[in-house]
Amino acid sequence: MNTAQGIGSLIRQAIINEQPVKTRLAPTPSGYLHRGNLYNLILNWWLARATGGKVLLRIDDLDRERVRPEYVDFIFRCLDWLELDWDEGPGKPDDLQQQWSQEHRMPMYRALMLQLKDRNLLYACTCSRNTLSKKPCDCRTSTAELSGREYSLKLVLPEQAVVYMQDALIGSALSHTTPLEDPVIWKKNDSAAYHLCSVSDDLYFGVSHILRGEDLFISSLIQQQLSQLAGLTAFGDIQIGHHPLIYGPEGAKLSKSAGSRSVMPELQQNQTLFLREFALWAGIPKSNEIQRLRDILQIAVDKS
Ligand SMILES: [Zn+2]
Repeated sequence: MNTAQGIGSLIRQAIINEQPVKTRLAPTPSGYLHRGNLYNLILNWWLARATGGKVLLRIDDLDRERVRPEYVDFIFRCLDWLELDWDEGPGKPDDLQQQWSQEHRMPMYRALMLQLKDRNLLYACTCSRNTLSKKPCDCRTSTAELSGREYSLKLVLPEQAVVYMQDALIGSALSHTTPLEDPVIWKKNDSAAYHLCSVSDDLYFGVSHILRGEDLFISSLIQQQLSQLAGLTAFGDIQIGHHPLIYGPEGAKLSKSAGSRSVMPELQQNQTLFLREFALWAGIPKSNEIQRLRDILQIAVDKS
């Protein structure tokens, strides 16, 4: 199945089962969004809108050192340009600060961290970035006292030979055969780390489907394990699908941090062309009938 067929299948499934759909657009304002980021937003929007579901805009802004106001503004401008709408979440950058920033949900993240700590599932990691570049972390066996302020906290993952996940877009199970590294759950600066925030937020906002790039497959597995260890069984009901990435001219993965340039000039120049390129990438038939984003909803995608 290509990506469009995977979405088509999820749409039919949701309609037949009368399953309420809620997807999330979860951009991180740590750089200017690139083409691949926008493709991901469109996929999530498409699934929700084609099923009469809801779209949440959740801007992952907890990494204070990397977030910049111009990146936040850029997210809103891209959404506006694509005419991509949402039902819940900040309407503009000020709103993010006042109501929707992840900062406001720190008590919830902390509660989950403490829950894991109570279950003896966390250990203190004293490694610096420099140490980690030379040798793997062996803090799991050390006896350092747990403290969120002096150390980062890592989660003890079970040692399993193979980890599986049913992929919602591919329609079959994907497996991973090398041991997963214990993830950081709480950072040295006494702030929640990515996996913990992501799981908490997806449950808090009642997300039903997560569509993300295949580079986040390991993250999905870690989040699945984290939720199981914390007893958050509802996370297992969320359907997670991974789509292929798009690559730059020299075959390099697009990356905000590697400075992949802003997509805005292309969008401003020719929105229709941008959407048709998206449609071709996703495998949407009749891509030449697409003028605006909403046209995607009119095109039925058959099973493979
Ligand atoms: Zn360590």
